Amino acid sequence: MNEIELRVALVAGAVVVVLGVLWLRSFLRARRRAALLREPLPPEWRELLAERVPLYRRMPEELRREMEPKVRAFLEDVRFVGCGGLEVTDEMRLVIAWQACVLIARRDPGVYASLASVLVYPDEFVVEESEEDEAGVVTEGTRVLSGQTFDTDRIVLSWRDVCESSAPGDAYNVVLHEFAHYLDHTVGNALSDASSRLRALEEWHAVLEREYEALCSAVERGEDTLIDPYGAEDPAEFFAVATETFFELPAEMEQRHPRLYVELQKFYGLDPARW
Ligand SMILES: [Zn+2]
Repeated sequence: MNEIELRVALVAGAVVVVLGVLWLRSFLRARRRAALLREPLPPEWRELLAERVPLYRRMPEELRREMEPKVRAFLEDVRFVGCGGLEVTDEMRLVIAWQACVLIARRDPGVYASLASVLVYPDEFVVEESEEDEAGVVTEGTRVLSGQTFDTDRIVLSWRDVCESSAPGDAYNVVLHEFAHYLDHTVGNALSDASSRLRALEEWHAVLEREYEALCSAVERGEDTLIDPYGAEDPAEFFAVATETFFELPAEMEQRHPRLYVELQKFYGLDPARW
């Protein structure tokens, strides 16, 4: 072997070693992750959820256990960022992650793969917005929000509103609301936008459209509605508030909006009125 051949052999050997080390590292990381996801949630986490999240208490034990690997994966993969001076605690992470995972309890967990971060403010937060009217006049303004979803990579929540979502007797739940928007965004808004014309969603859109129009008319007449009147804003908001009602007041929804209940039951693969 001459000198050039020797150098080539050394470089090739080094490349093989580096690739081997990289492969071993990613293999070990994947194994550690798989082992972690299999680990049941610690009893103190379960107690905390039972104390803080009424939905957790209502859900059958078997389904709660089934959800645990998804909650673990969420906590592993999604970065929580405290904003406006808030320090995000483990409790906050757990309460948010668990409720986010209710929506995917029977759905593909990979749906949250593109979610990079959840930003948490202590209270409602202000966003700057500009709106353009038909004449092209742009108005700059601000809006106060309890939650906001940006495409499929960022969700912003107010912690005070997350806490208020635990109040019994109403359909308000900001975590379910924002993550429902998120699910809609992952399919290019096909859930709320009837013009997407997806065959699989035909039945869904027929029901959604009828229910949305019924809500708009009820709101116009000033009637009391089970579904949050905010859903009359547009079909995307309707899907988000209908999701809140489905999980928070399922028996009432099944009774007063049976077709919508059935469609959401099919979509989420869950039947919360039986819990
Ligand atoms: Zn919304």
